[in-house]
Amino acid sequence: MSVWHLECSSCGARQPGDALASICPECGQPWLVRYDSPWPARDAINDRWDMWRYAAVMPLRDGERPVSLGEGTTPIFDLPGLAREIGVAQLWVKDEGLNPTASFKARGMSAAVTRAAALGVAGLVVPTAGNAGAALSAYAAAAGVPVRVFAPASTPAPILATIRSLGAHLELVEGHIGDAGKLARAFAAEHGYFDVSTLREPYRIEGKKTMGIEIAEQLGWELPTHIVYPTGGGTGLIGMWKVFREMRDGGWLSRDVAFPHMVSAQAEGCAPIVRAFQAHADRATPWENPQTHASGLRVPSALGDRLILRALYESEGDAGSASEAAIRTGTARLSRSSGVDAGPEGGCALAVLDALVREGRVPATARVLVFNTGSGASYRF
Ligand SMILES: *Cc1c(COP(=O)(O)O)cnc(C)c1O
Repeated sequence: MSVWHLECSSCGARQPGDALASICPECGQPWLVRYDSPWPARDAINDRWDMWRYAAVMPLRDGERPVSLGEGTTPIFDLPGLAREIGVAQLWVKDEGLNPTASFKARGMSAAVTRAAALGVAGLVVPTAGNAGAALSAYAAAAGVPVRVFAPASTPAPILATIRSLGAHLELVEGHIGDAGKLARAFAAEHGYFDVSTLREPYRIEGKKTMGIEIAEQLGWELPTHIVYPTGGGTGLIGMWKVFREMRDGGWLSRDVAFPHMVSAQAEGCAPIVRAFQAHADRATPWENPQTHASGLRVPSALGDRLILRALYESEGDAGSASEAAIRTGTARLSRSSGVDAGPEGGCALAVLDALVREGRVPATARVLVFNTGSGASYRF
């Protein structure tokens, strides 16, 4: 849509949508994009076969071309055998591993780099557990913008190799993504680069919200009863929860389509959102010594913690964590029952679903969509 502004997710402060923005200067919380143009009818979906088919409801100016590499329009597979085994009425997997650079980070970075390039940044910087760095490297290369990536030295080697091969300058960091974040911010301040860290930049959410539109379109404008989302920084969960309301208010979803219960899946070795949810808290405290082989989930402290928790509470959702062994079992089970090359984050989502069903927290009547957020290939070396 051509006209929008930014609204602080916490204090309601406003900022025009035509300047570079990180977080709200009043309260330090993330911005959300709010559209001033009227929400168009559903036939405004265009003929592109990537996520920009929804450009009419995304931050794109009239006549502007997005920085795109074919992100989105990922398949949803119905898994009746696995649904029976787990004990739910229907089970779908949405395979986000098929995106450019093999994870759903492509969606957010396509939107973020489109805006940053339009505003003429000197360069882009990101701290990453791996996939955000690979995705940014690809979109920055497509836009011809220099990029610097700060990643833990423990990041899976194939992801580091992808970042290097796309021409990004890679800095390895001892520690986790939080440590990489401090270095990235210092670098950005010194060199005038723009920091596209999770939720320090408002447009990645808008890219990731296209997953919510896609699910609705692919399911014939119906929605699952539950969505299980492997949660790190929470961008996709926040984006989908935002767009479900936008679609209902804009008439894309009928009023009698119930919103899904949003379910956060995390690893036992790094579960700040699960801990906060169990305590009914509105903020999460940082996780000490985060450990998990599902590197996309090794996020000890999410800037969007309030927004994630708000989506879980508002949707009457749930949150659960899985052990490293359960994640491995879940990954193999998801792959072998579907043919999808699942990553451990998707395996974590399946493991958490399995546990919640056994505990009676997800009913046998549920029609559940599980996200596989990245490709298993990124972990094999
Ligand atoms: C980044 C990432 C996640 C977490 O996504 P958020 O939207 O930040 O919560 C999950 N899985 C994979 C593969 C990732 O790269």
